[in-house]
Amino acid sequence: MAKNIQAIRGMRDLLPDESPLWQFLEGRVKDVLDRYGYREIRTPILEMTELFRRSIGEVTDIVEKEMYTFQDRNGDSLTLRPEGTAGCVRAGIEKGLFHNQVQRLWYRGGMFRHERPQKGRYRQFHQIGAEAYGLAGPDIDLEMILISRRFWQALGLDGLELQVNTLGTVAERALYQERLVAYLSAHREQLDEESLRRLETNPLRILDAKNPAMKPLIDAAPTLLEHLGEASRQHFDAICQGLDDAGVACNVNPRLVRGLDYYSRTVFEWVTTRLGAQGTVCAGGRYDGLVEQLGGRPTPAIGFAMGVERLVALLQEQGAGQGLNNPHAYLVLAAGAPQQQGMLLAERLRDEIPGLRLISHCGGGSFKSQFKKADRSGAAYALVLGEDELARGVAGIKPLREQAEQREIPFDGLKGFFLSEVF
Ligand code: ATP
Ligand code: MG
Repeated sequence: MAKNIQAIRGMRDLLPDESPLWQFLEGRVKDVLDRYGYREIRTPILEMTELFRRSIGEVTDIVEKEMYTFQDRNGDSLTLRPEGTAGCVRAGIEKGLFHNQVQRLWYRGGMFRHERPQKGRYRQFHQIGAEAYGLAGPDIDLEMILISRRFWQALGLDGLELQVNTLGTVAERALYQERLVAYLSAHREQLDEESLRRLETNPLRILDAKNPAMKPLIDAAPTLLEHLGEASRQHFDAICQGLDDAGVACNVNPRLVRGLDYYSRTVFEWVTTRLGAQGTVCAGGRYDGLVEQLGGRPTPAIGFAMGVERLVALLQEQGAGQGLNNPHAYLVLAAGAPQQQGMLLAERLRDEIPGLRLISHCGGGSFKSQFKKADRSGAAYALVLGEDELARGVAGIKPLREQAEQREIPFDGLKGFFLSEVF
């Protein structure tokens, strides 16, 4: 027998037992974004490789080693998107979305990175992200963070901690980078191989190094906060003040540098200690230079992206999602009741009761086996229709999740029953 084909390593199927929790998350998140006036944008999953090289940066983990890049039949180099911002900016420039207007956008979908698969880290994963264009002040930075806080409230997630930092302007960062390189070069012997390489290519990323042996060195390094100009300092202070006023604890983490090159000024992450090493569930920041870098007019911009798999794992860890989307009722047919009558009753109920989740038994079988299926479906009630019930215009209602007797309800009382018992 031929060997069964399996899913690609690091790419997961979302099975129907888990999808209600995803839908719950996506629904709540969309509601929040709607309430802040963000509109959805959907861009292609494939883009020209050049787009990611120019936006994310040549010397980043993503571009150096994580992209799914291939030549298509025309010989063009294409890449499966590793993140959503580049596509948004590309579309915005191409379609003139940024010209003299503010845009509040959001997106969702699969992203692809060739990383080592582990808990919370996959090769296809999903993000929901938001981006705002055309606003330079700290008010929109604050809005972004407040939106994300509202997500956690809407999802019932707790224990998430906000970390913020500022990366300053390009000029401030260049000055700081000189100081940092001087400091790190003076302590070369304490740098690991990766960091020695970064020292030449992307020294700021050394602050992000995960090697515990380097922690004391990094902790004692000069910080960018000490090298900010007046405008950047005011921008950052306004955000911290706004967070404080809104009751969000603002933990300034001077080591927070983020993996992508294109950030400027504000960066932030929401982290949890409950997911092991992969604890960042939401990450974002300002990227004022990117639109211009990709050929558009100078346009201030800020955004964030959430890792859906990690948020779902956190929801599961908190025990959320039990019985989400379970059917309210499962219609079983007792001896003598024609299948067609059952289907008609089910249709009538679906007409009368919007939102009713009702499975109509199909495929025959004994009364007992139908009841077993009703139970296994997770339905709250079995709805029983037999020849005798049909003749009298009633249905039997048997609670499946609690000990209680079956009762009889006339067909035209079923709507009232479900409205009061189930909704
Ligand atoms: P990490 O430090 O975990 O690698 P990152 O800095 O590469 O994260 P971003 O590019 O900022 O991540 O993506 C935003 C969010 O998307 C992350 O905070 C995380 O929740 C999620 N994410 C990133 N990469 C993956 C992945 N390979 N699998 C699952 N989720 C991911
Ligand atoms: Mg990464």
